[in-house]
Amino acid sequence: MPWWSGWTERGAAGRSSRRRMLKEVAAGIGDLLFPSQCVGCGDMGRIRPGAFWCGPCWDELPWIQPPWCPICGVPYLSAPKDREDAWCGDCIGGNHVFDAARSAVFYEGKVRQGILQLKFGGKLSWVPALSELLFEAIARDPWNDRVDLVIAVPLHRRRLRHRGFNQSSLLARALARRLPKPCRLDALERNRWTEPQTRLQRADRLENVKGAFTVKHPGEVEGRTVLLVDDVFTTGTTLNECARTLKKAGASAVIALTVARSIPKHRFHKKSASSVYPEGSVCAE
Ligand SMILES: [Zn+2]
Ligand SMILES: [Zn+2]
Repeated sequence: MPWWSGWTERGAAGRSSRRRMLKEVAAGIGDLLFPSQCVGCGDMGRIRPGAFWCGPCWDELPWIQPPWCPICGVPYLSAPKDREDAWCGDCIGGNHVFDAARSAVFYEGKVRQGILQLKFGGKLSWVPALSELLFEAIARDPWNDRVDLVIAVPLHRRRLRHRGFNQSSLLARALARRLPKPCRLDALERNRWTEPQTRLQRADRLENVKGAFTVKHPGEVEGRTVLLVDDVFTTGTTLNECARTLKKAGASAVIALTVARSIPKHRFHKKSASSVYPEGSVCAE
């Protein structure tokens, strides 16, 4: 078959191969004009075309790794081999409404900087690099096969107007495209103005977001497994409230996925953790 056949074929197959070829040509020109630069170290030499992190920076990211709680995904300091699937104290206590939560990395270093620059500095160029981390955290997780729909934690329209974009929506859309899974960014709405959660204590956070969300079109989530995307998991209060709202509207399962997880250093203290959590589930949160 001659090399130009992709350009001359009619029909869907011809159009898709033509589109692919055009995309590759455009990417090639783009790489020549704007060579890829690692978001971690700025290096242009060691990064493969189309990637956002170079190998060494990717390997050095503070990945959250098992053993972890199978529900909330919080990593264990140590867990006996035969108890790696043990639930943490929080999950045993039934504190989470979502069916599972996963985060790619700890909220620190370059990723923390990237999230802050995206959120408060409007550096949208961080979206592909951060969504690559979301993809890494969910693509091989058994939950991924069950996901029907990707949605994002919504912003109140006043905050959306002020910021101009919802970083979680941008991340969710980029991830959905890559998985690929359907994405409905208007499925969930934040209809009540809330104080930023970072300023509040845990108990106040619960009160702050209670009843803040609504599902616009329940038919879209009914009977579906929803992947709910946000940037950072701190106490999980907002994600929990979203999950509660989605389940009330009929969602069969909700999996919370964040780029990063903020776990205060003191919670890693082995002695205090083991005194709080049951035997075999020494937990970092
Ligand atoms: Zn690098
Ligand atoms: Zn847990």
